[in-house]
Amino acid sequence: MNNTIYNLASLGVQQLIPYKAGKPIEELERELGLTNIVKLASNENPIGPGKKALAAIQQALSGLALYPDGSGFSLKQTLSNKYSVSPEQITLGNGSNELLELVARAFLTPLHEVVFSQHAFAVYPIVTQSVGAKAVVVPALNYGHDLDAMLKAVTDKTRIVFIANPNNPTGTLLSQDSVERFIKALPDTCICVLDEAYFEFVSSLEAIDSIDSIEWLKKFPNLLITRTFSKAYGLAGLRVGYGLSSPEMADILNRVRQPFNNNTLALVAAEAALNDEEHLQETIRVNASGMLQLTEGFKALNLEWIPSSGNFVLVDIKQSGQDIYEALLRRGVIVRPVANYELPHHLRISIGTETENKVFLKALAETLK
Ligand SMILES: *Cc1c(COP(=O)(O)O)cnc(C)c1O
Repeated sequence: MNNTIYNLASLGVQQLIPYKAGKPIEELERELGLTNIVKLASNENPIGPGKKALAAIQQALSGLALYPDGSGFSLKQTLSNKYSVSPEQITLGNGSNELLELVARAFLTPLHEVVFSQHAFAVYPIVTQSVGAKAVVVPALNYGHDLDAMLKAVTDKTRIVFIANPNNPTGTLLSQDSVERFIKALPDTCICVLDEAYFEFVSSLEAIDSIDSIEWLKKFPNLLITRTFSKAYGLAGLRVGYGLSSPEMADILNRVRQPFNNNTLALVAAEAALNDEEHLQETIRVNASGMLQLTEGFKALNLEWIPSSGNFVLVDIKQSGQDIYEALLRRGVIVRPVANYELPHHLRISIGTETENKVFLKALAETLK
């Protein structure tokens, strides 16, 4: 093999381990000739997109010869009204993943350090390494973020701290109080990226405190909140997410953003989805009952799980997750092994419809026999 091209890449990229996505249904169909595959691997919405989003897409199809509105004016207006922030505080991304990349590109150099937790979302090390910055990984506490230890890991070289709340893949949730205290204690030279990809599911839980992180934007110009339309809104295939921050931070992020990073269909569908409260409530209902169904199923199989605030749950299968993952594939069920998150005995299961959950639990029981 010719290694020259590899040696030409920047050091961080040479050492980068690419993101491993959930296996696509079509791929498993091709490989094993199966049909009726159940995919519970990427935290997608099992009931699909809402009717309003689909109607908006249908209507926009005839306009596809034109470039999209690169400023995302209309979607930003709707977000602005819904969350009481000004449009200048919003940055739109091609999925919220793009926001994570934009913040890394805009603020990091190889001289900088980035702090995040063990078992945290896999994109944080990727964006850190791709710009040659140094990742400082802080050991988890009960599978979640250890905010005290993370604060101690912050030095004058730390330019970004990533917090996923709730975290993927563990589903662990930090109290709003503890997150606020953490941000307050950060030096103002350090940016806090608060990744709220599962925000809509959390805000539906009765037990949690209702402090809104958006309120903190008034106090912390170094805070970037990221959210997405991929999870609760069921639009993962369109790639649209957004960042909320101070206008200054948004200005910086928008400088490095590609001018047409959100396509026309994504823009109109996201806006329509924000106005589809019925679809959101149905999604939340299906998720809550599916979570109960799965955890009851785990109990019956004598398995432990990590209580989750998202639309997925991490179950401890007490043996090689990769082996059970492969055995489930042969039964037409795709879940997510998480050995790459240093969790070799767990599997992450996205909450599906009642039928999908049932198919999965039956297959799991058979494989564990
Ligand atoms: C799914 C996810 C995202 C982003 O997904 P996009 O589809 O790029 O919006 C970001 N953070 C976490 C923790 C996630 O689980």
